[in-house]
Amino acid sequence: MRRSALYVCVLVASLAGEARAFECKLSEQYDYISLAWTKRSIPYGLTTPSVQLDPNLVVRSVNDAFDQWSRPDCTDIRFEFVGDVDKERDDVNKVEFVSGAWDHASDAVALTRTTYGVEDGIIRVATIEVNEATYQFLDASTGCSPDSLTYDITAVLTHEVGHLIGLDHTKFFTRVPSDPTMAPEVAPCEMDKRTIEEDDIEGLCLLYPAGEPPGHCKRIPAQADPYVGNTAFGCSAARGWDSDHGSFMFLALLCALILARKLSPSDNVRRRAPLRRGSSCSTTHSRSSSHTSPSKKL
Ligand SMILES: [Zn+2]
Repeated sequence: MRRSALYVCVLVASLAGEARAFECKLSEQYDYISLAWTKRSIPYGLTTPSVQLDPNLVVRSVNDAFDQWSRPDCTDIRFEFVGDVDKERDDVNKVEFVSGAWDHASDAVALTRTTYGVEDGIIRVATIEVNEATYQFLDASTGCSPDSLTYDITAVLTHEVGHLIGLDHTKFFTRVPSDPTMAPEVAPCEMDKRTIEEDDIEGLCLLYPAGEPPGHCKRIPAQADPYVGNTAFGCSAARGWDSDHGSFMFLALLCALILARKLSPSDNVRRRAPLRRGSSCSTTHSRSSSHTSPSKKL
């Protein structure tokens, strides 16, 4: 008995002291709702092609980036490459190379936009944009000059896929090779982010545990007073047909209206959570002017 109590104490102490570095993207409207896909097979395709990279390299890099996130045994999330897709399609996730006007932060090498329900946190669709308007990309394994603003395309895309599945930037990173892939910066020629780290895997498998429903990064806050007592429901308040016919008819009509609203399929559509676009790269990290490394935001 005493030993089991000790085990409980140790467990409680270990949970209390549990520190995680990974962060989940949260709903803009409710900061206790973390974002996640409900399906485990996620299609993705290519839209606007790269003006810098060979198409075969692009396909290989994109596939390698998605593949990284389906490798750990603790998850069963999978990704399906569907080839070239129309830019206007909103039923498939896209990787887009932007060589014209870049409408986002100029120091962002790439970013991921997700469309999700603000009230349910379910991600519907996502687009990864690569900033070819400002930066150069290549396969750094074939040679790369760290003095230039040139970035490894696979490393950049692997980070962005982390956003696509609902992860945000980790706050704990020290600009060393063992940093999580979800650290918010990438250095020129850096390939470390091609492979996900233990911290990334913890976030991945919390959100998409193998054989289990999606996990959540936050708990819904408890109500201050969860009980409401002696609340009557129903429509039996009329005192009698003759004495209060008008009230009875009014309540009957009210009940009919309530039932009709509950059963109306069109109304159900209206009741669905609104969708809102949000950037997954709203990093709070700002680059210090004393940095010597020309790392860029991801
Ligand atoms: Zn990022």
